[in-house]
Amino acid sequence: MNNPFLAPARFCLNILPRARQRLLNMRRVWALLWCCLSVAVAAAPRGATPALEPVPFLGREWYDIKAWAATQRFTVDLNPRTRIATVTGDGLRLTFAVDSQQMIVNGVKVWLCHPLAARNDTWLVSALDVELVLRPLLRPVRPRPVKPVRTIVVDAGHGGKDPGHQAGTMQEKRYTLLLAQQLRTKLQAAGYRVVLTRNRDTFMELPERAAAANRAKGDLFVSLHFNAAGSGDRTARGIEVFCLTPNGAASTHAPRSQVSNEVLPGHGSGARNILLAYQVQKALVQKLGLNDRGVKHARFAVLRDLTMPGILIEGGFMSVPEEMRQIADPKFRDRLAAAIVEGIRQYRRLVES
Ligand SMILES: [Zn+2]
Repeated sequence: MNNPFLAPARFCLNILPRARQRLLNMRRVWALLWCCLSVAVAAAPRGATPALEPVPFLGREWYDIKAWAATQRFTVDLNPRTRIATVTGDGLRLTFAVDSQQMIVNGVKVWLCHPLAARNDTWLVSALDVELVLRPLLRPVRPRPVKPVRTIVVDAGHGGKDPGHQAGTMQEKRYTLLLAQQLRTKLQAAGYRVVLTRNRDTFMELPERAAAANRAKGDLFVSLHFNAAGSGDRTARGIEVFCLTPNGAASTHAPRSQVSNEVLPGHGSGARNILLAYQVQKALVQKLGLNDRGVKHARFAVLRDLTMPGILIEGGFMSVPEEMRQIADPKFRDRLAAAIVEGIRQYRRLVES
């Protein structure tokens, strides 16, 4: 008897083996696809980000700040009224201003090689700054194998026939040496081996200071100076830390046309130079509350030939009576020294962890 209600059942029974086979085949295909996908994901670089397309403008390469921020998984806010770009993410807050070389990184000023540029509605950060300023600060390189910081060379600026800046009878060379000796005490207490380039009031040529640091096989070099404003700028005050100007850039206070492509021994520590400068400037500004003049670039003779990361600290203005009083105060210099040690500690935390 033909039961119309059985027909579908029979039909089902008839197609079941074929459907089961198809299902099995589909499962195999999915398993294969999943396997390929897993291999592809595992093979891809961790945290792979969209590629950045350089933008040619004004004879050099730039990146759209929005595109750069996207590669870092940061959010960016461009304020067309104030012309300030704010980039946030990963515990970082960066602010840039159109036509300005000054960038603020978590409250501390850093000088870019080129000002943020605006081309129509697109704001551009130079490729040089992305590679040589932003990347070392935001994504510190951890050299492998780790080379721990053991020996620190402390360089007291000037000496002997070179007094440095003068404020009345007070000479820079005296206070750089006093600070160097106080810094040595604190660094030794923290377990470092310390080498002073000079421990007396003696003259020393600038290249000889770097050579002495290299001979001592220093792991870090810290040159100590105090500032003085020119007669045209009596308002200048505060603290700044210099590191070697990156290859292909102009120094912070030089005309931007003064670009040098000379590769110097100091460029071997490029990424670590600016990271050390930033961490020390941050500690100085935060612990002493002085005016933040920023992390700057210069091709100083003491930094050019170093085979280790190096910085030059300008620890206040002798031309400002209030700051000169502090520089002459051993307690203030002790706080300066403590902040430098803290900056070095933070630097080590980033490169040795
Ligand atoms: Zn000096």
